Amino acid sequence: MTEGDRSIAGRGPRDSLARRTPCGVIRGATVLLAVAGLFGLLAGTASADAGPPLAKKDRAARAKSTRHGPPPAPGSHPATLVNLYNFWTKEWLAVDVAAGPPHDTVDRFLRDHFTNKPAAMEPRLVAMVVAAATNFHSDVVDVVSGFRHPKYNLMLRKKGHQVARDSEHSHGKAIDFFVPNVAAQDLHAWAKAQKLGGVGLYPESGFVHMDVGPIRYWSGE
Ligand SMILES: [Zn+2]
Repeated sequence: MTEGDRSIAGRGPRDSLARRTPCGVIRGATVLLAVAGLFGLLAGTASADAGPPLAKKDRAARAKSTRHGPPPAPGSHPATLVNLYNFWTKEWLAVDVAAGPPHDTVDRFLRDHFTNKPAAMEPRLVAMVVAAATNFHSDVVDVVSGFRHPKYNLMLRKKGHQVARDSEHSHGKAIDFFVPNVAAQDLHAWAKAQKLGGVGLYPESGFVHMDVGPIRYWSGE
């Protein structure tokens, strides 16, 4: 099964990338394994110490200060961040690997760029792309497609793109992404091993599709 548009240069400079199109959904194997607590599985991070409560005058002084509070306590570690980049909106989202971002922030970040409408996104998707970045020692993930509004999906179909009528993207259950400087084939192999759900490889475009539907694998384009 293929995706309609093959014009994406997966690992080129972001602003020079050609049009990206979302991928279709292929029904295949029906084994479903839930992956729970992904953010909790990513070890090795800690939040900065907030420190003791401040007196009122100290809080007032801090509010006027351009400094950002006291340094972290000795032995503490700064938050480990993975920065997600949305190809369509050109927006960034810094994700604290240990905590994960608020749901509404994720929903907004992964909104449909065509209608500008968000949807309730499956939280394991962001956890997965963050885990991918961590696995490949990257602090950046490029998101090609998150939520796809039914109107946008229909438009793509009318334009002749091979997009599934009932795409997992239209249910907030799929994400297309790549990790800069990581071969899409390598990312695809890693994604399959997670057994989250569907995993598609788009080698010419250079991205991978993951969803939380039934486990099934395919290679497009
Ligand atoms: Zn997709």
